[in-house]
Amino acid sequence: MMNAAQSGIVARIDALLPQTQCARCGYPGCQPYAAAIASGEAQINQCPPGGSVTIRALARLLDREFLPLNPANGTQAPPRIAWIDESRCIGCARCLPPCPVDAIIGAAKFMHTVLAERCTGCELCIAPCPVDCIELRPGPEPAANQASVNRARFESHTARLAQRAAERQRALDAKKAGASRSTPLEP
Ligand code: SF4
Ligand code: SF4
Ligand code: SF4
Repeated sequence: MMNAAQSGIVARIDALLPQTQCARCGYPGCQPYAAAIASGEAQINQCPPGGSVTIRALARLLDREFLPLNPANGTQAPPRIAWIDESRCIGCARCLPPCPVDAIIGAAKFMHTVLAERCTGCELCIAPCPVDCIELRPGPEPAANQASVNRARFESHTARLAQRAAERQRALDAKKAGASRSTPLEP
């Protein structure tokens, strides 16, 4: 359990991260990476989307030496966004849950499409697609407030997934309780 001072420094580190939520740093999102930096478990040079600008900002905040981006975490690339070849999409919807900012729309058995203005280019939708119909294409430079917009979208995505999981669990519990009530008693 973190104390208030630790939570404060994690929040200040997180505020410097690009909120792409791509997991290339080796952690499942920007906030867990921020916590790992604060605890000394991770180095400041593990975020490819942020690149040297983010590393410099982290070094300043934490009064540490600048380090070049660790190549084990990837390389910094120009902005890209996902694009779905709708002629090949089979509507399986497997790309929807991994998208941290809800940038893909479509229903089961219908073609899906990427909302270009939402996509952060995190690539998390690519591997789950069974027909390889998602590719990355050059995208616009992120807006000045992009990180906070991404963070808000990610928080709403995470909250929705948690709510659905809780609803599924409640339905399962109710089903189990109903089954146990209808089991006839031994004579
Ligand atoms: S944007 Fe950077 S800090 Fe956030 S998950 Fe990706 S690599 Fe990690
Ligand atoms: S559409 Fe794909 S690349 Fe774009 S944000 Fe969602 S998961 Fe990441
Ligand atoms: S995972 Fe691929 S095939 Fe399935 S809905 Fe998404 S884009 Fe279409």
